[in-house]
Amino acid sequence: MAAIEDPPFSLLSLEDELTCSICLSPFDCPVTIPCGHNFCQDCLLTTWTDSYSCPQCRTLFATRPELKKNTVLSTVVETFRSRAGGPKEELRTPFGALAHGNHGHMKK
Ligand SMILES: [Zn+2]
Ligand SMILES: [Zn+2]
Repeated sequence: MAAIEDPPFSLLSLEDELTCSICLSPFDCPVTIPCGHNFCQDCLLTTWTDSYSCPQCRTLFATRPELKKNTVLSTVVETFRSRAGGPKEELRTPFGALAHGNHGHMKK
């Protein structure tokens, strides 16, 4: 009997890594702060009104840390989005319309 093991690196866990913990969406313009966490630049700036702390691990920064754009993460997000977009595109195909007969098919 062969044991079936889950691959240690799956797209599902990757999706988790690519999700901003503030807006819970894939990073949009991801930036890295000194504690090592990543957020969308806009999300992070929104939380940084009175004090500068990491929304994830709550590390407090005395001064506003310099935001470094995470270009690698940005690229990964783009790649992941285009892959994840594949199946969604298929869902757009009007299988339903076909199943309902030639409903939207009246055009000449
Ligand atoms: Zn965000
Ligand atoms: Zn942090």
